[in-house]
Amino acid sequence: MADRIAIFDGHNDAVQSLAEFVPGGRDFLARSDNGHLDLPRAREGGLAGGLFALFARPPQPPKDDFTRTATGYEVRLADPLDPDFARHRIDAQLDALLRVIDRADDQIRQATTVADIEAGRRDGVFTMVLHLEGAEAIGPGLENLERLYVAGLRSLGPVWSRPNIFGTGVPFAYPRSPDIGPGLTAAGLDLVRACNRMGIMVDVSHLNERGFRDVAGVTNAPIVATHACAHAICPSTRNLTDRQLDAIRESHGVVRFNFSVCDVRPDGYLDADTSLETIVRHVAYLVERLGEDCVALGSDFDGAVMPRPIGDASKLPHLIGALLAHGFDDRVVRKLAMGNWLRVFRLTWQ
Ligand code: ZN
Repeated sequence: MADRIAIFDGHNDAVQSLAEFVPGGRDFLARSDNGHLDLPRAREGGLAGGLFALFARPPQPPKDDFTRTATGYEVRLADPLDPDFARHRIDAQLDALLRVIDRADDQIRQATTVADIEAGRRDGVFTMVLHLEGAEAIGPGLENLERLYVAGLRSLGPVWSRPNIFGTGVPFAYPRSPDIGPGLTAAGLDLVRACNRMGIMVDVSHLNERGFRDVAGVTNAPIVATHACAHAICPSTRNLTDRQLDAIRESHGVVRFNFSVCDVRPDGYLDADTSLETIVRHVAYLVERLGEDCVALGSDFDGAVMPRPIGDASKLPHLIGALLAHGFDDRVVRKLAMGNWLRVFRLTWQ
């Protein structure tokens, strides 16, 4: 049965809209028609858990940063974020997430090991893994990394699409190569080494190509992109070129394809009227390029515009059905849905 396949998701921004974090926000434990992800809709969709991003948005989104071009768009690279502001936001989000878990009466557990995720699945308990999207909250001496690790952080992207002391994120643009701007700084290389030592997964999503190469050159763990697609199909800067995909395959890492319409659609349009087949085309390309062990899901729920047929977490079975209909067999779909995640966690979190 397609809808019995358990799914573990690589990326969501649900914490941004939690009632515990923003006034008037959503109750994660109650079913809503707004946004994409809450516990009831996760259960309906067969979502067993996922990486929950802590992400410090700028106080005011920059205006006039979007330019429509003859063939697509360019977005001005966001300004650096004040590290104190980032720390406050991240701490508030962590606190909000822990309060949700607390209130959930063992329907949700925080996971820091593969055994935690497997136990959650066995017990029918939803599992949350902490991810940090952009490492501004971690100081130059990596002071805050240990504290966040103790709080459960097991995955980290050194940059979002803006510069920080660790490196420079890739600006959003279409059609364009992700080879824009400088690579990781010395502090960024130290951060990757520290993550390797501590068993924190390093996420290359939002890095530019030089930063990606720097991570690939220094890391001793499989290379992971928690939410990105194939540049060969949709040439947005957030997607991975064939050369990057080959590096991920060689490291036996994983690409979690996201559903964000502007990274999925070949025309790069911000249009929810996007078919599941458009996503499946990326999956087929990634599986052909990387093999069936190195591809998984990274929806970007609550962080991007979703294709209408998979407009929230309850609709995940539609995607599973589309993958099966495309011809992926049950065994492969189970790997894409969850197994490949656990493989990489096992290799990274030791
Ligand atoms: Zn993102």
